[in-house]
Amino acid sequence: MSIVPNIELNDGNTIPQLGFGVYQVPPDETASAVKTALDIGYRHIDTAEMYQNEKGTGQGVRDSGLNRADVFVTSKLNNGFHEPDDARRAFDSTLSELGFDYVDLFLIHWPLPTLYGGDYVSTWKVLEEFKRDGRAKSIGVSNFQVPHLQRLAAEAETVPAVNQIEVHPYFTNEDVRAYGLEHGIATEAWSPIAQGQVLDDPAITGVAEALCRTPAQVVLRWHIQRGDIVFPKSVTPQRVKENYEIFDFELSADDMVAVSSLDKGEQGRTGPNPDSFDYVPE
Ligand code: NAD
Repeated sequence: MSIVPNIELNDGNTIPQLGFGVYQVPPDETASAVKTALDIGYRHIDTAEMYQNEKGTGQGVRDSGLNRADVFVTSKLNNGFHEPDDARRAFDSTLSELGFDYVDLFLIHWPLPTLYGGDYVSTWKVLEEFKRDGRAKSIGVSNFQVPHLQRLAAEAETVPAVNQIEVHPYFTNEDVRAYGLEHGIATEAWSPIAQGQVLDDPAITGVAEALCRTPAQVVLRWHIQRGDIVFPKSVTPQRVKENYEIFDFELSADDMVAVSSLDKGEQGRTGPNPDSFDYVPE
């Protein structure tokens, strides 16, 4: 029995609330990093076609000796492939790179509202096909702002199971989270420790010292208590283990407020603004 709670998604599937992210894990180190995380106890891996390490992710799952059904694997549609036929080909490639016949969750990585005539709805309808044919157990989006979610609600059949967005103490992203809560879309918080930038903040180190925990554990615990899904990334086994050990302590209501009050609004983003982001890999 895992110590990580499961979150029920709006399609009835469940996802472990804590996972392991592999953004910026070099392709040739990914299998070993994923196996290390699975050996520690993680059962949820977050990759993407853009990270160029789906192959290592699949290999790491196989190397762990676990049953495929016991590991929740997410991947994402890359930005160059929003046209329907491109999306179908890209999804075939994702499954083939992973070496799986299904993914647990497949996401549109970015909405790209300034590209493809702003038509992420047609792209979403292709993900609905993958859900119908069973090759994606759940489907969702990433970096969707409230107007993007409202448009899907008006023009598509399926409500995304998750929205994976930037959330951490310097950018709490409350309006997008609130929309998700109201409409049954689970929030996944990417860069949960702001790639390390929040770890020296005195408000966080103060709570960490009082609880005899590390700053990373305090911030990850803050996300867990807010109900979001997180998948911190590290290639250092000791940190991967530390990030997993967040289920045997709690932040008080005052601690939660102290961390939440670090929010800097838009200034706190570490990544691009999804309204204007238009990066398409070569
Ligand atoms: P993160 O907030 O998880 O920070 C990762 C960095 O923090 C690591 O490189 C490491 O240097 C440091 N770190 C990790 N654990 C630590 C610890 N215990 N103590 C001290 N330092 C520690 O940032 P991230 O990798 O950007 O985000 C996590 C995951 O979110 C990614 O791997 C990816 O799966 C996902 N993500 C998705 C998007 C998206 O657009 N959908 C964008 C960025 C990240």
